[in-house]
Amino acid sequence: MKTAVLWFRKCLRLDDNPSLVQACEDSNVDSILPIFILDPGIVGEGFEKYGKNRLRFLLENLEDLDQQLQAKVSNPLHIFHGSPSNAVVGLQNYLKDRMYSFHSEYCSEPHGRSISQSIQDTLSIDKDIPCHFHPASHTILDLEKTISVDGFKNPKSMKDIQKIFSSTFSIDQDGFFQIPEISPEPKVLKPPPSDFNFQSCAQLFKGDLHTCSSLRIKFSKLKFLDTTDENCYFKGGESIARERLKEKVSTRHDYVNTFKKPKTSSTNIPSNPREPSTTGLSPYITIGSLSVRRLWKEVEKANRTGPHSTPPESLHGQLLFREMFYLLSRSVENWDQDQNNSMCKEIKWGEHDDIKMTAWEDGKTGFPLIDALMRQLKSTGWMHHLGRHAVSCFLTRGQLWQHWKSGRDIFDHKLLDSDWALNNANWLWLSGVAPFSMPYFRLYNPCPDGKSSLNVDAETAGFIRHWVPELENFPVKYIYEPHLAPLGIQESAGCIIGKDYPLPIVNRKEVAKENLASFKTSLAQLSA
Ligand SMILES: Cc1cc2nc3c(=O)[nH]c(=O)nc-3n(C[C@H](O)[C@H](O)[C@H](O)COP(=O)(O)OP(=O)(O)OC[C@H]3O[C@@H](n4cnc5c(N)ncnc54)[C@H](O)[C@@H]3O)c2cc1C
Repeated sequence: MKTAVLWFRKCLRLDDNPSLVQACEDSNVDSILPIFILDPGIVGEGFEKYGKNRLRFLLENLEDLDQQLQAKVSNPLHIFHGSPSNAVVGLQNYLKDRMYSFHSEYCSEPHGRSISQSIQDTLSIDKDIPCHFHPASHTILDLEKTISVDGFKNPKSMKDIQKIFSSTFSIDQDGFFQIPEISPEPKVLKPPPSDFNFQSCAQLFKGDLHTCSSLRIKFSKLKFLDTTDENCYFKGGESIARERLKEKVSTRHDYVNTFKKPKTSSTNIPSNPREPSTTGLSPYITIGSLSVRRLWKEVEKANRTGPHSTPPESLHGQLLFREMFYLLSRSVENWDQDQNNSMCKEIKWGEHDDIKMTAWEDGKTGFPLIDALMRQLKSTGWMHHLGRHAVSCFLTRGQLWQHWKSGRDIFDHKLLDSDWALNNANWLWLSGVAPFSMPYFRLYNPCPDGKSSLNVDAETAGFIRHWVPELENFPVKYIYEPHLAPLGIQESAGCIIGKDYPLPIVNRKEVAKENLASFKTSLAQLSA
């Protein structure tokens, strides 16, 4: 019996999964052992690196994958909680000569690359077990290949990344990049090794081995799953990801073809304060239950039907930004740091201030838009891109003068789409320190009106009323800056500012002036 071990790492799906296709197509392979690894380096020894929503979402994605594998070929997913290298050694000791090959996806993060290397080394010593880490499964570009091309330069703009795409993919007569085709789910999947014994395998592994049901029990005991149904707006799983893709993209050519990101609303759709005005596909792309290539192709199908928006504003533009940031995260040293990072100016940010940080994180700053967005993040694990612009600008160069890394870490804990490459990229962008940042002195007004580029709903302010219920009855005229409302209005709205809802934590105009001056001084010191 020859067994292929299949580590679902970046692709928690059966669709467009090169590792799965390869293991299924290899005629020497009789059985497949599907595994997932909860790496303490990523999730923490006690799962402390992930917020509750992230853990719930991850579990739902694993359960969906497990159900698909069980339904199709009675082959359950085995979940290791421990170091990936130990998991592989444990499997090797258990399977012995039956372990024929190892298949997974390339990971571009420094931690992920060192894990891949150590697995490759383990499997090649003595046994020479073929070990495949498929490139271009989580991104459209093969990152290693792209950065090693002669003359590769770090892309810093949409033009730069389009140039890289043009030199990587040919362009057809209609002007579309010829992105490689998607690999559909294999018609025939392979069964588990017939004599696989869960307990014996668990004994050989220095860590915990779980099924989806034992992991659910563990998460329940640890109270990770006590979020309400309402909060679980984004449910995990490949089937749900494909459903959202269909509803937001595949069946809505008009929406796709007129999509212009800067025109989308940061306060979601008026009829539902939880439903994004954008696709809301990022949680699924990040966790890998949706293939980024499939999204690209679905957008392309729509674009082929007629006139359409173009990068940087279009949906392809958004995916090109994603590719650009992935390339940078791979090629730039110290991508997640402000020191020795060629994409980061080392601004002298203020001392870490617990009061400011907690008010920001908990949505209690006294700025209703900031608070509504942060409460949405805490509750659902998601926030619109322009909302992320507003809260990150507010925390850093705008009002609170806190280090971008402090905000990045809170996002990392809470966002369902938290992604090392992209979260760092966007914080660098918004805090004004990167070459691809907007000019640092262009600030968002945290108390916007209907004309703001944050595109808030200034007519009904339903988003604010939903997420900051203290202000539910406030007149729209004052709702974005409620402390300016005369006392009589506050009384009739049933919300006294300073008592029922906080006064603004800072004087937004005064601190903005001071912060811009500090930014300018810091820049001058850097170039002195
Ligand atoms: C401070 C800050 C932190 C962020 N952290 C993350 C993160 O950890 N993970 C993450 O996926 N996105 C991050 N973003 C980017 C962006 O906000 C989200 O990708 C987007 O809001 C997801 O919603 P959507 O799927 O509806 O996007 P859509 O507008 O529908 O775009 C489609 C897809 O394009 C990609 N995309 C869109 N915008 C960006 C962008 N600016 N950078 C990279 N990819 C993009 C995403 O995969 C997204 O799903 C961050 C933005 C900011 C300002």
